[in-house]
Amino acid sequence: MTNKEKAKLKQILEAQLHELISKTGSKVAGLVTSSVEAPEMVEQSSLDYSRSVSLRISDRESKLIRKIQQTLDRIEDEDYGICDKCGEDISIARLRARPVTTLCIDCKTRQESLERASGF
Ligand SMILES: [Zn+2]
Repeated sequence: MTNKEKAKLKQILEAQLHELISKTGSKVAGLVTSSVEAPEMVEQSSLDYSRSVSLRISDRESKLIRKIQQTLDRIEDEDYGICDKCGEDISIARLRARPVTTLCIDCKTRQESLERASGF
């Protein structure tokens, strides 16, 4: 992946994060922003953080916020954009559509059909 592609994906992630934050209110936004800017504070504040977040936003949204933050943290890593299951590169088109993904389209499709088969 080129630096340009990474920069573009970062932009997408940051836009998604801001959208979620603006949806979920300013108090949460303050907490989320401070945890991004001061990663060493995250562990200490994570209990208070998850407690207050759960009051205001849905589980799905708080999970997504955390996922986006984790993705922003690891986007500079060598293994970003590589499938967790098969180790193949995830296509840039797929990453643009869903930058937080950790599976390539083949593995994702297989996982989803397994989930369907097990009655999910
Ligand atoms: Zn894969």
